[in-house]
Amino acid sequence: MNVFSNIRVFLVRFYSFFLSNRKSKVIFYHDLHSDIKYTDMSTPLNLFVEHVNIIRNSGYEIVNKINKEKGQIEISFDDGFLGVYDNINVIRDLNIPIQLFVVSSYLGRKNHINKDQLLELSLLSQVTISSHTHNHYRLDSLQENEVLYDLEMSKKVIEGLINEKIASICFPEGIFNLKIINIARKVGFSCLYISIPGFYSDFFLPGVIKRSLVQFASANEFKAILRGGDHILYWWYKYKHYIQS
Ligand SMILES: [Zn+2]
Repeated sequence: MNVFSNIRVFLVRFYSFFLSNRKSKVIFYHDLHSDIKYTDMSTPLNLFVEHVNIIRNSGYEIVNKINKEKGQIEISFDDGFLGVYDNINVIRDLNIPIQLFVVSSYLGRKNHINKDQLLELSLLSQVTISSHTHNHYRLDSLQENEVLYDLEMSKKVIEGLINEKIASICFPEGIFNLKIINIARKVGFSCLYISIPGFYSDFFLPGVIKRSLVQFASANEFKAILRGGDHILYWWYKYKHYIQS
C-alpha cells in the first residue's frame, strides 16, 4: 500500500465516523476471481463475499434498482470481464442482483465475455445488462458526433444481442461533462452512472447517479464507504472526472 492509499483510507474512515444514516448507495467493481485473474482491477472472490455479508449485516438490502432513500445497495461491474461469468454461480448462490456495464466492441475479446455469454447472463433474472459505450474511448476526447455514434452503436449492438431495451450507461474512465450527458439522454439512456462517490438520492444532475468504487476495500474501509466516508473525496473525483471540453 502506498502513502496515497494510506491517506485515502484514513480520510474515508475518519469522515465515516460522522455519518450514520444508512442512505442508499451504488457501489461498483470491475471483476471477480478465485484462481484465474483477467484484470489487475479484479476483486478476490472471498473479499467480495465478505462485502456482501457486511452489507447484509449492516441492515441493507441489495437491489436491482434503488427505489428508497435509505437501506438499499446496488452493485455494478464495469467492462464485461470474464471473471463475472466464471463466478456467476457464486452470485446466484448469494442471491444478489447485479448490473453489468459492457463495452459492446469488447465482446469476445481476450479476457472479456463473448456474445453468447452475454446472452446467457442476460437471461438470468438477477442480471441487468447496461452500456459502457461501444469502444471505451474517453468521451471528452471525441467530437460530439463521434460521441453520439459511439453511444448509439453500443445501445443498438447490446439491444440487438439481448433483445431487450437498455436504460443505463456508465462512462469510460468515469470521464463526462454536460455535453456528454445531453448526448446520452438524447440516445435514450435515462440512468447515467458516474464514478464520483455520493448517496443515490443526491443526484449529480437529474438521472446522473453517483457510485463508489470498492474493488480493493478491506472490511473496515468498506464499512466506512457504505456510511459515505468516501464522500470526503467528492471534490477530488469531480476534478478528475467532470471535464469540460
Ligand atoms: Zn471501463
